[in-house]
Amino acid sequence: MPYRVPFVDPRTHYQRLKPQIDGAIIDCLTKGDLVLRQQLRDFEASLAKFVGVKHAVGVNSGYHALHFSLLACGIGPGDEVITVAHTFVATVSAIVHAGATPVLIDVGKDYDMDLDLLEAAITPRTKAVLPVHLNGRLCDMERLESIAKRYHLTVIEDAAQSLGATFGGRRAGSFGKTGCFSFYPFKVLGGFGDGGAVTTNDADVARTVSLLRYNGEDRETGEYHHHGYTALLDNVQAAVLDVKLRELPTWIEHRRRIADLYRRGLEGIPGLGLPHFEDDGRFDIFQNYVIRTRERDRLREQLREDGIETLLHWPKPMWEHVGLALADPGLPETVRISKEVISLPMSAETTPEHVEITVRSIRRFFKC
Ligand SMILES: *Cc1c(COP(=O)(O)O)cnc(C)c1O
Repeated sequence: MPYRVPFVDPRTHYQRLKPQIDGAIIDCLTKGDLVLRQQLRDFEASLAKFVGVKHAVGVNSGYHALHFSLLACGIGPGDEVITVAHTFVATVSAIVHAGATPVLIDVGKDYDMDLDLLEAAITPRTKAVLPVHLNGRLCDMERLESIAKRYHLTVIEDAAQSLGATFGGRRAGSFGKTGCFSFYPFKVLGGFGDGGAVTTNDADVARTVSLLRYNGEDRETGEYHHHGYTALLDNVQAAVLDVKLRELPTWIEHRRRIADLYRRGLEGIPGLGLPHFEDDGRFDIFQNYVIRTRERDRLREQLREDGIETLLHWPKPMWEHVGLALADPGLPETVRISKEVISLPMSAETTPEHVEITVRSIRRFFKC
């Protein structure tokens, strides 16, 4: 049986912009513009402008945005990179595949890196810090940058969940040496498959990433500058993303309205934590709407019975996945979070009625 309240709704999402999306795809196919053509350059220019940086380079996933950022910043074997364990696995895999060592620290109550723990994790081998702006909320970049500066660390932002979010009026992906974005279908800006981008103000980094994504080749001279990868953002995807980027501010406003409705409906339930934190100059875009309770598993079961689809980000701390071969870094908050968080339906297609159904089910569960 389909869910009454789906977590996301890609079919309705497509219908919203069908004529423009179809037009963009047909344009690419008709002209035969498939690889490294104008549509890709146009999208990169739109994205750079939106984020507020000089360069954006499309790649084929958020993972590759992270991996290439690390390589372009000269991070490799013998180097340590500080990041969080409460993130999507790709953040850490990129560090491992670059040959560096991930150093995992805990997160705070807002699910972003706990900056009180950052300095203690720095060693003479630390080369970079890789904050993850989780769920659509930026880390305190002012404080993070001042620590990074003091210890001469490169900052690489995992902004895969925060396109359009701001801190102090500046957008995610404009603070670090690079910002890394994902256009996986269910991100705030999603394509019809995998996609990603690196944003930067550094022309050399932008150039290195654009060589890495295409076999190390300089397209103008034909010279291979190093062993590269095959990781382009497809022209067709870029054309679609360029159309969708124009609507992103509207979709973000929608998400914020939905978040506000959840808040009004769920506020005051004892033992239920909501994702609204002190404003302190941030603009959150609610990639996910994450609530928190010790009764998580039972609540999720009831929501499922009531036809409401939820997801868990993430039910098992990363180091407990034996195949990843990560030592247990002993992070109590990350462990607690893994048992308590549940992500409610949230997308550009979530309606006030969806929220009402969800709120009613949760209130019935807590008997209040
Ligand atoms: C989605 C995501 C990524 C990776 O993106 P892909 O495009 O799936 O490779 C990295 N980090 C975070 C926090 C993400 O949410």
